[in-house]
Amino acid sequence: MASKLLLTFVIYHLISTVGLTMESPRPRPRLSNDAEDLQTASLDFGRMSRVKPLAVLHPTSAEDVISLVKAAYGSARGFTVSARGHGHSINGQAQTADGVVIEMSGVGSKSRRLKPIVSEDDGYVDVWGGELWIDVLRTTLQYQMSPKSWTDYLYLSVGGTLSNGGISGQAFNHGPQINNVFELDVVTGKGELFTCSKQKNSDLFHGVLGGLGQFGIITRARIALEPAPHRVRWIRVLYSNFSTFTKDQEYLISLHGEAPSDKFDYVEGFVIVDEGLVNNWRSSFFSPKNPIKLTSFNSSGGGGVLYCLEITKNYDASTASNVVDQQVDALLKKLHFIPSTVFTTDIPYTDFLDRVHKAELKLRAKDLWDVPHPWLNLFVPKSRIADFDKGVFKGILGNKTSGPILIYPMNKNKWDYNNSAVTPDEDIFYLVALLRSALDTGEETQTLEYLSNQNRRILRFCDEAGIKVKQYLPEYNTQEEWKGHFGDKWELFLKRKMEFDPKRILATGQRIFRPSL
Ligand code: FAD
Repeated sequence: MASKLLLTFVIYHLISTVGLTMESPRPRPRLSNDAEDLQTASLDFGRMSRVKPLAVLHPTSAEDVISLVKAAYGSARGFTVSARGHGHSINGQAQTADGVVIEMSGVGSKSRRLKPIVSEDDGYVDVWGGELWIDVLRTTLQYQMSPKSWTDYLYLSVGGTLSNGGISGQAFNHGPQINNVFELDVVTGKGELFTCSKQKNSDLFHGVLGGLGQFGIITRARIALEPAPHRVRWIRVLYSNFSTFTKDQEYLISLHGEAPSDKFDYVEGFVIVDEGLVNNWRSSFFSPKNPIKLTSFNSSGGGGVLYCLEITKNYDASTASNVVDQQVDALLKKLHFIPSTVFTTDIPYTDFLDRVHKAELKLRAKDLWDVPHPWLNLFVPKSRIADFDKGVFKGILGNKTSGPILIYPMNKNKWDYNNSAVTPDEDIFYLVALLRSALDTGEETQTLEYLSNQNRRILRFCDEAGIKVKQYLPEYNTQEEWKGHFGDKWELFLKRKMEFDPKRILATGQRIFRPSL
């Protein structure tokens, strides 16, 4: 306790000598130890880890970030620094006990930070590292442009998703978000600012993309844009046979090189193992107006499980609707879903991209958003996805899921191997995302303990069956496990860490390296 107090004192002293201030009313940037700020920085979406920092910085510019990291790195009694985007991690990845959390997306100093700047001619937007994707979209749409690759949910920060990968149904076509960045400004763990790209300071550029915040803090990102479509034809079809479902998904992602008219723009899917209505928080697509009984399709060896393919076709207001119909029909004809199960809707592009936010608002209204989320995201190699289906969807899960389970394939050649993100060693791999919420309903299968145990069973099952999964948004506790995760990328990861953050003070909430304080 005494040493924490001493450290807190040291932080405030150092920071005052490098030009940050705690005074109130605030000249910004603001270093804060307000109870509310500390409380916010100690929480994340997972609601399973609570670690209070010693202070919180609300930056207004890259210079503020530089000053803080310099103070942390340069002093004899150092401290840790964790950038926090929108705090939507699951296991405390943006938290730190022995130092300062930088609130990159905080609204407090928003008006003073870099505003998104669109270059129409060169097809990119420059944004602050803490910018939320929803705000990036709002800005680029003013120029009828849009980023190419998305996450399903837009209230995440640019720096947060670029530290992981950033994936959604466009990834088969455009690659993850980390493949759609031209340039970054990064403040390393020594407090030095570098502009980096594939051509310039490329080691830092590739290290940071998918680098779990280990090499530097992204203060600016230059993101690739394309002309924004106006509307989206959004289609769902059902399968009871897993192999038919995955063959169709794999066929659709094999079309990535085709002309835009000859492929879908988005390919995802989800698994339905719950009894009763096909209904989950991600969508009101089927219900309540359009209820579907799982049992009505429970034939042909599905083992009580249904699979839903979700696809979209983007189009412009100038495109005649019969042209869109023809393109969609031509693609649907090649698929093998249950014929009576085509569900279609047609909505503005922004509504489609922002679809999960609607579900968020509904859950918030019922107090079901700020609950523990023991999420598990796995990349499963194509060669073993059928074994995963048998062992997990039709095995370990039983008939209760407590949340949506996404499943969709991606092409490995759309992931730049030089980036830090790791994927299975096969040309095609699936994301399986078990996005569950733990609830206090008295039902054992909904408790945090039950769901966490089930996650462990799933990982053990994969291990014992030799299914070489890679965790997406990984969580490990020992360096041995991290070495296993990074595999042949570990040596380079370590080398980059020693070069860019030699005192290991950044993003310690990932629990990969111990800081040398
Ligand atoms: P935080 O949780 O704040 O930080 C995550 C990590 O990144 C931390 O280690 C932090 O230190 C580091 N970091 C944050 N900002 C920076 C920065 N500027 N520079 C360097 N490091 C930084 N992911 C997908 O890929 N696809 C999805 O469809 C998707 N949907 C989601 C839906 C919901 C409802 C939620 C809660 C999460 C979803 N995610 C998805 C996961 C999400 O992309 C990651 O959790 C991401 O890290 C969250 O961004 P954040 O801004 O909240 O990051």
